[in-house]
Amino acid sequence: MSFLTGPMHHHLEGHKELTSHKDILNMTDPDVIWVPLMNGNAPCTPLVSVGDKVNIGTKIAERNDHFYLPVYSPVSGTVVAIEKRMSTTLKNVDHMKIENDHQNTVDKPFNPIDYESVSNEELLEFVKNAGMLGLGGAGFPTYAKFTNPTNVDLFIINGVECEPYLTADYKNMMENLSLLKTGTLALLKLSQAKKGCIAVKEDKKDLIAKLQETFNGTNVEVRTVPDIYPAGWERTLVLLLTGRRYDRLPIEAGCILNNASTAIALADALVNGMPLRQKYVTVSGDGVKEPKNVIVTIGTPAHDVIEACGGYTSEEVKVIAGGPMMGNSIPNDLFVVGAPVNGLTVLNYKPEKEVKCLRCGKCTETCPSGLEPVRINNAEKIKDIDTLVKLDVNACIECGMCSYICPSKIDVTEGVRRAKRYMALKK
Ligand code: SF4
Ligand code: SF4
Repeated sequence: MSFLTGPMHHHLEGHKELTSHKDILNMTDPDVIWVPLMNGNAPCTPLVSVGDKVNIGTKIAERNDHFYLPVYSPVSGTVVAIEKRMSTTLKNVDHMKIENDHQNTVDKPFNPIDYESVSNEELLEFVKNAGMLGLGGAGFPTYAKFTNPTNVDLFIINGVECEPYLTADYKNMMENLSLLKTGTLALLKLSQAKKGCIAVKEDKKDLIAKLQETFNGTNVEVRTVPDIYPAGWERTLVLLLTGRRYDRLPIEAGCILNNASTAIALADALVNGMPLRQKYVTVSGDGVKEPKNVIVTIGTPAHDVIEACGGYTSEEVKVIAGGPMMGNSIPNDLFVVGAPVNGLTVLNYKPEKEVKCLRCGKCTETCPSGLEPVRINNAEKIKDIDTLVKLDVNACIECGMCSYICPSKIDVTEGVRRAKRYMALKK
């Protein structure tokens, strides 16, 4: 089946002005952190014990199934517990609790390298050992995309950030142009593509000018995309930039994509020999008093980050890990900012009365994956597995458009998510 049969022409109110030009708050010296011992659905095995001293860069855990991913300590201090906390996927998972000694002692886990002079194999090994992972929301180990890059003709840095409210990538790019250039050129080398591009929305004039200056003289072009949602979704972006579609992976269409913040984090490892320990996070929405971008140490509870932004505007708010379209609504703010979390969207709770489906078909017209969300919802209610299989439920990217567009205020996306969970159980 081919994707993207939907119209995907939706301009959403971005609300980016709430944070895009405000100063960034630095929260990189928390007293305690809880590092999630999970990557995607795969647990990471702890390599240190309760009572052990760790430094910034000490390898504290690793994923070691069909993918390898080391996890490095973002602070120096003492491991005081391994305990369950709810994650952004609403599952209870192990977290390593570390008390920060505020000494910032560093254990460099690897040496910086010059990506231009090493072989592709050495560079790939470096990316793997540095624990680089997708910071755009997926958290997928970065090296895995580059293990067999055959017939790649375009490497793409995704700086589109199409979710409303989120400006963390924009701020990160604006402030770290030199690292962005290094990380992009290193990943371009790994992709073996002859050219690369960095894609941003056409309304980001200041960023576009800076990127053009930064990448001048390289084989990385700055490309702009219209302000539509979900322009930053990989399938949409590949289609917008190349006119090509694919079924499973972008490499089928000759493309590899990485998020802009991932490229910046990789450059920090290449240039400074430092693993990922903090990230840019947008805290925004009408439910938080002082929306802004914050540089947060991995493992800091959302509650602390929101408090540092003035706290909530009312007692009835909805907290979303990520943006309002693709993020997960979380019933409390005790979850921590892990590597894939790029935003905390806080919205005043507005009860909306759901009414019966009008059969208007808007959810089907809107779905960028060409699905029939209303039929999926109906089949899920009666647990009709055969129909769910036919309706290709797993092609849903959970973009949230079907709920957003529904005039009956039905949370259609949640019904599709339930269907996906049900299908997974029945496998
Ligand atoms: S969330 Fe809804 S609109 Fe988006 S891909 Fe899934 S079914 Fe389609
Ligand atoms: S958009 Fe809402 S009301 Fe319209 S068909 Fe889909 S579920 Fe029904």
